[in-house]
Amino acid sequence: MQLVWDEFLKILREEAGSQIVETWFKAVCLEEWNADEKTVVLRVPNQFVSSWIQEHYLSLLKTHLGRLLHTTSLKFLFLSVQTQEGKRDIIPASPLTTKPFLDSQPIPSLSELPARMHHVVPSTGTMLEPTYKKFKKRPVGQLNEAYQFNSFVVGPSNSLAHAAAYAVSQGLGRVYNPLFIYGGTGLGKTHLMHAIGNEVKRRNPQSVVCYETADHFMNEFINSIRFDKSHQFREKYQRIDLLLVDDVQFFSNKEQTQETFFHIFNILYEQQKQIILSSDTFPKEITGLQSRLKSRMEWGLVVDIQTPDLETKIAILKKKADMHNINLNDEVADFIAGRVISNIRELEGSLIRIGAFSALTNQPVTLELAKRVLLHLNEKKKDGVMLDNVLKVVAQHYDISITDLKSKKRHKDVSSVRQVAFYMMKKLTFCSLQAIGEYVGGRDHSTVIHAIGKVETMIENDLLLNQKLKAIEHDIMTS
Ligand code: ADP
Ligand code: MG
Repeated sequence: MQLVWDEFLKILREEAGSQIVETWFKAVCLEEWNADEKTVVLRVPNQFVSSWIQEHYLSLLKTHLGRLLHTTSLKFLFLSVQTQEGKRDIIPASPLTTKPFLDSQPIPSLSELPARMHHVVPSTGTMLEPTYKKFKKRPVGQLNEAYQFNSFVVGPSNSLAHAAAYAVSQGLGRVYNPLFIYGGTGLGKTHLMHAIGNEVKRRNPQSVVCYETADHFMNEFINSIRFDKSHQFREKYQRIDLLLVDDVQFFSNKEQTQETFFHIFNILYEQQKQIILSSDTFPKEITGLQSRLKSRMEWGLVVDIQTPDLETKIAILKKKADMHNINLNDEVADFIAGRVISNIRELEGSLIRIGAFSALTNQPVTLELAKRVLLHLNEKKKDGVMLDNVLKVVAQHYDISITDLKSKKRHKDVSSVRQVAFYMMKKLTFCSLQAIGEYVGGRDHSTVIHAIGKVETMIENDLLLNQKLKAIEHDIMTS
């Protein structure tokens, strides 16, 4: 059984990544396999993990465990380990004819997940759902209620887009039509579009709002042709007060879809119905898009969203932490914000992973824990690689060779850079001071302590050094 499970984890690691395995499957074990009933009993640390796995990984479980056990249509029974009161939860994944399976050996190290974590969102961070029940995927075309104006943090990078979006939501078809929002991935375009839709619905529940991704629009269109319903297809869009089409870059080279969209656009526009579009680039730069469509997209207002600055990232983290009831202090927020560079989705994903890890292991969210989750679990950044990486980046920044840094040279230029390297290694890795000293030319740990102390005193009143170290840290984390 263990072999089968190990094999499954190996496959999962390849398919879903080791972070997923570490976060959700580490404390799960294959408890029993009943070949007659085609039933697999999985032991999970708590109900939260159980539900999460069922929501996200059931089909992977079915496929791969099924293959490994040479069975199709596997059924799963999730056995939740003892709760704090000593109760047990049995959670069948699908209707079962077998009696629930009870076990007498709880896993001692993990206790029941605190209720507060029942707000966690998918680790992809794509959708923020306020309650656990809402994990189920939102039907296409509907608005995501979690994406509101008041859950959107405004900073210099997005203030124009936010202001325009809000203005449009207050005066459909009259302010800017169309409104075109563009910017890199994970920066909040979709969030803003839903926020507009939600606000419009709030102001006037009767208004007909349609949110579509360009992809989905195209599929619907193709289906309508296939089933000879293109007339109905067009008609549906003509009854809309607000049309939101997300990621229109996917219209690229889809001639017929563009044709139809062009038609719908014109009709809505003439009736002063509001159109809002998003894309990863400026309309002119979307390749494979008819120029008449491009020009129409620029008729109203085109606004961009830039990558957020550090303060905005920290503000977003705090907001998200509040929403998910994660206790996030400044130190940890700084660390995450400094590490995740440009993508808010990733920023959120990191926070969620930290929150989940803290809940799963029943530990508070400390800097140590955050480092462990974000650095340690990432296999690519194993200690050796990390030390290697730190040294390389520091050497590059000061234009000094790695050999010099590892050498016995005590020249001031070299030794001060070496001190910076020690400081960074301590800050960004989990290596012991011994290991760090050992790595940098076999020095003993008192040398390392001394060096780190020196850097810490210097940065207290040296703004330039501070900035330099921030830049170095940034490069280490992103290289
Ligand atoms: P895009 O559509 O630009 O790829 P999304 O709108 O999907 O990005 O945003 C990715 C994630 O980041 C979402 O969970 C969203 O809520 C969050 N997000 C982006 N910008 C902000 C912001 N300014 N304030 C709060 N959350 C944000
Ligand atoms: Mg999007």
